[in-house]
Amino acid sequence: MSLDLLPHYKKILQGKEKPKFHLAKENGTLQKKIRQAWKILEKCELCERKCGVNRLEGEKGFCGVGKEIRVFGAHDHWGEEEELIPSATLFFSGCTMRCCYCQNAPASVFYEMGEVWTPERVAEWTEGMAKLGCRNVNFVGGDPTPYVPFILKELERAEANMPVVFNSNAYYSQRTAELLSEVVDVYLLDFRYFREECGRRLSEAPGYPRVAKRNHLAARRDGDLMVRVLVLPNHLECDSKPILRWIARNLGRDTYVNILPQYRPCWKASEHKEISRPLSQEEWREAVRFWENLRIEMNRRKLLSQSIFPKTSFQEYKCL
Ligand code: SF4
Repeated sequence: MSLDLLPHYKKILQGKEKPKFHLAKENGTLQKKIRQAWKILEKCELCERKCGVNRLEGEKGFCGVGKEIRVFGAHDHWGEEEELIPSATLFFSGCTMRCCYCQNAPASVFYEMGEVWTPERVAEWTEGMAKLGCRNVNFVGGDPTPYVPFILKELERAEANMPVVFNSNAYYSQRTAELLSEVVDVYLLDFRYFREECGRRLSEAPGYPRVAKRNHLAARRDGDLMVRVLVLPNHLECDSKPILRWIARNLGRDTYVNILPQYRPCWKASEHKEISRPLSQEEWREAVRFWENLRIEMNRRKLLSQSIFPKTSFQEYKCL
């Protein structure tokens, strides 16, 4: 793939544009968003679960995340998409979904297992990683959604000229999407399920397809978007293919899509027979072929819809 699919990110790397959070800081938008985000913590609805707990008073919702930053990893990451590496990646503890096959569980899922970091420490770490040559700062988890107020606060302190990557399962609320706009440069979003029942059963995520569609559309509008489609065994027809078709039709055939082959039956995956084995190479190839064919078909339709004749009227053409 190419950096051309990520035009804003490319311009930041070339020094032609600033990361969005710098502009938001200069015009006061960031400070306003921090106040709004902190208010949400009193009745949390950062993700689509909308637990309504007062996290500032120590109450905890589904994700278990409280009022501290807890991380289970922070380093330069070389395993991300080639346009992003090396990526200064911060792994937050706690998640808004419960994917039974999570490869980072239990550290990613359980908030208590993470180490406590202050926003100052995150800001210092970000500066250090920029000096080491990382191309971006990449907030991941678990999931970064429960930490959005802390991320905004950290960015208020950060000086580094690094694009911000929000690396999420895409199960965040509309209000969170609004907080992220004008701050996030690259949305690196999973699109896991197209069938409601699959999201509920395998990730305890009711409404996932609807929420993911809404957030992908918003991300496409608000920044550069990279979509990750993790192919699950036996889920090509119900999830992977309909997701790819939806992307082609609604986000466009030029969307940056990474079809991931690395599924392994981790954690509690063996409780679900159909995903209790690794993905076969043939299943992954079929998903990739499907995406390529969709793109070819859409290109063909576009070419057919464009006239191959000079711009003359039908009447003029008849007289030639
Ligand atoms: S971020 Fe956590 S506490 Fe907030 S709504 Fe989501 S699961 Fe509930």
